[in-house]
Amino acid sequence: MVNEFEIKKMICEVGKRIYNRNMVAANDGNISVKLNDNEYLCTPTGVSKGFMTPEYICKVDAKGNVIQANPGFRPSSEIKMHMRVYEKRPDVGAVVHAHPTFATSFAIAGIPLSQPIMPEAVIALGCVPIAEYGTPSTVEIPDNLEKYLPYYDAVLLENHGALTWSTDLMAAYMKMESVEFYAELLYKSKMLGGPKEFDKEQIAKLYEIRRKMGLPGKHPANLCQNKDGVNCHNCGASCSCGAAEEPKAADAELVASITKQVMAQLGLK
Ligand SMILES: [Zn+2]
Repeated sequence: MVNEFEIKKMICEVGKRIYNRNMVAANDGNISVKLNDNEYLCTPTGVSKGFMTPEYICKVDAKGNVIQANPGFRPSSEIKMHMRVYEKRPDVGAVVHAHPTFATSFAIAGIPLSQPIMPEAVIALGCVPIAEYGTPSTVEIPDNLEKYLPYYDAVLLENHGALTWSTDLMAAYMKMESVEFYAELLYKSKMLGGPKEFDKEQIAKLYEIRRKMGLPGKHPANLCQNKDGVNCHNCGASCSCGAAEEPKAADAELVASITKQVMAQLGLK
């Protein structure tokens, strides 16, 4: 296992990247990494994520209480949001929060990233819903986020920014890059008259590729994300909603056969 100091260095590196890529301004954004069920590393509040060194990084417990922080540093004010992801998704090892300009513009306009327009975005993300607005640093954000956690690895935060999570820090950061790239392409293609979307068959083939790759995380290729009314693009029957249709067809047959028998008994045949 990678040692703690190496992970702190990696958090600083990811901080630099989100800052240099226009994904955060000033002191915005936060990053966390799970060490074990009781120990998590996180970025401090009130510092630019582009200029951190390992001694900036704080350590908290599963409730977000400080275990270790150097003088002058306090854990991110958004730590509750991170802890809710870890609580509900035991498969997650890292969480990244940023305000990338294109993705955040969609979050402000109230438009989810739900149009299937390019293979990588469909395979990596499926789609990115918008978690309803919550006041930063309160439990409103984690509470509004919660219903999306079983189905997605990335969400937009309404009028705020984006949140991604994955098995490890690099994967969670890459997910943030993917979200922003997808948002940028969607924005630009809208400027060019509107994207040409994939059809149901094309989506099904991409979902099949994802299933064959055995990628970790939650994705409509493996789940029926519309089951609980959680908004997403219309995947047709490409996701496991399609599989769920089968028993319905069987039910219809059963109903037809019972109806026939009843009619026969009533002499209505
Ligand atoms: Zn934020």
